[in-house]
Order: sequence, then C-alpha cells, then structure tokens
Amino acid sequence: MNKIEIIQADITQLNVDAIVNAANNSLMGGGGVDGAIHKAAGKELLEECRLLKGCATGRSKVTKGYNLKAKYIIHTVGPVWNNGTQNEKELLASCYKTALELAVQYQVKTIAFPSISTGAYRFPFDQAAKIAEQTISAFLKAANTIEKVYLVCFSEKDLHQMKRAIEK
Ligand code: ADP
Repeated sequence: MNKIEIIQADITQLNVDAIVNAANNSLMGGGGVDGAIHKAAGKELLEECRLLKGCATGRSKVTKGYNLKAKYIIHTVGPVWNNGTQNEKELLASCYKTALELAVQYQVKTIAFPSISTGAYRFPFDQAAKIAEQTISAFLKAANTIEKVYLVCFSEKDLHQMKRAIEK
C-alpha cells in the first residue's frame, strides 16, 4: 500500500496526528497556509511560537495543535525561490526531512504537508512536488512508524498538477 497520498483539502481541517505549517523564519504567523493555521489553531499557538525564537530555513520545530484536530503542528521554513541559486532544492528537501524526523520523535503516525514554498515563496510547483515526493519516499523506507503522509493541495488545479508532476 502506498503510504503517500495526494489530496485536495484545507489542511487546517484534517484529522491527522500532525500537520506541517509552511512558516517563515520568525514563526510569528503570516499569510497563506501559515495565516490559516494560526487562525484555526487559536491565539495560544502564537504564544508558544514566540517561545521558539524563530527557525532557520530548511529546519523544523514542533508546537501543540491547540484548536485543530491535529495534536501537533510541525512548523518548517521553506526557501524563497531565487532562480535556484541559493540551495533552494536542498533546503526544500531538508524541510520535508526535518519535519518527518520530528514526526518520528513525537510518535506521529499520520501527517499532512502543504505544498511548501510554492505560494508566496514562488518555488516552481512541479519541481517542488517532485522534491516532496522523493524526499518523503526515501525517508519512509527507513522509518516504519509513520503510516500515512498526505500531500495536501489547496485547489483542484494544484491537485491535478501535483499528480501529473509526480507521475512524470
Ligand atoms: P510559502 O510562503 O511557503 O510559499 P504559502 O502559504 O504562500 O507558503 O503557500 C504554500 C502552499 O499552501 C500553496 O500551494 C497554497 O496554495 C497552499 N495553501 C494555502 N492555504 C492552504 C490551506 N488552508 N490548506 C492547504 N494548503 C494551503
């Protein structure tokens, strides 16, 4: 059975052990999926985030899920796309890897990722989709405690594009 599933959803509404947030270096909230997660989780999330003192690009940190169904939020900071000149691909892969490492550490069995860096951070969507799928697949070969990983697309267009990009 394939442990990776591509779905269309609002990630804030999912009934999984952990959702991943495409955060920024401050971890103090922002637009896009970050704003949606903070809004849905509630004000306490920001208080816990403040204590974390930010996060480096390509790294991840955990908080509780507060008002979400998810027990944990794994905040990861994707790279801003700069024509591929700033190690963006490696940094994006590192987001997926460090988030999954934390998932194992926190005994997460089901986890959902948004399409990190492909919104405001402008990472080319198809390349990002491939990096996500390849990094998660490689990780799951060595980590058998994780049962399901959802790759969440917000729009139907993104859903079809991600499926196409990964099949290529
Ligand atoms: P980044 O700054 O890392 O590019 P964005 O939040 O701008 O992050 O976009 C990342 C992806 O998250 C985009 O593909 C966007 O469509 C998607 N997205 C935005 N809101 C949600 C949501 N509520 N659930 C799932 N995905 C979302």
